[in-house]
Amino acid sequence: MSTVLITGASRGIGAQCALTFAREGYDVALNYCRSEEKARELVREIEALGVRACAVQADVADSAQVKQMFDTVRAELGAIDVLVNNAGIAHVGLLTDMTDDEWRRVIDTDLSGTFYCCREALSDMIRAHSGVIVNIASMWGEVGASCEAAYSAAKAGVIGLTKALAKEVGPSGVRVNAVSPGVVMTDMMAGFSDEDVAALKDDTPLTSLGSPEDIADAVIFLASEKARFITGQVLSVNGGMVI
Ligand code: NAP
Repeated sequence: MSTVLITGASRGIGAQCALTFAREGYDVALNYCRSEEKARELVREIEALGVRACAVQADVADSAQVKQMFDTVRAELGAIDVLVNNAGIAHVGLLTDMTDDEWRRVIDTDLSGTFYCCREALSDMIRAHSGVIVNIASMWGEVGASCEAAYSAAKAGVIGLTKALAKEVGPSGVRVNAVSPGVVMTDMMAGFSDEDVAALKDDTPLTSLGSPEDIADAVIFLASEKARFITGQVLSVNGGMVI
């Protein structure tokens, strides 16, 4: 039996990843920051599938909270075999209007949060000479988005971190990959108008936007034995929007 820790698993892509891993028989640790009730509901839904689950509160931007979260998960579910770094926030606006705090919040959550969680997970994985990390990047980290400079920079950083870490820990038996979603209909898209969404669909060769399931299926593939010779890669799941 394997255990997965998924950050930002109370809603959206992370919540779907939790369900997908549970259906494959994984015990699931769900991290949340603010949405406690949603995380607890999902724990109940996952336990009904016959696997173990726990919800752990932590702000991934805070390294002390991340350390505490890993200690709690190890105590409740044992060693972590798979880490999915999914927690993330976006900020839309002109760079010239962005405050220091807004910039830092995006970088601290999306990039430093990924670093803190990788660092905690790797101590066990390297000792066990096995483990998988899947980082959730974004197509904007590949090509850059106008008015999302901090988000694009953070996600480009996640891609660089993924590649560097894959080289560093491959000899220790640990694989590190990224899934890079295109536009996926979650709360993160709430600020977009119907016209914006229609325009995004028009720009997508497969003519639809992504679902959380589309992303979770790619994540569980990279975590699986079927991906045993894949490391340091960025799997773009975007309907062809960025090729
Ligand atoms: P979402 O629906 O807004 O959900 C975000 C999740 O991240 C929530 O569970 C939230 O937890 C958690 N979170 C936010 N800040 C956190 C923090 N500081 N510490 C711990 N958890 C935190 O977003 P989503 O669309 O599912 O996005 C998931 C990932 O996919 C993100 O990394 C995002 O950048 C990436 N992505 C999304 C899209 C898209 O179109 N949706 C495209 C490309 C990449 P609480 O609610 O508990 O606070």
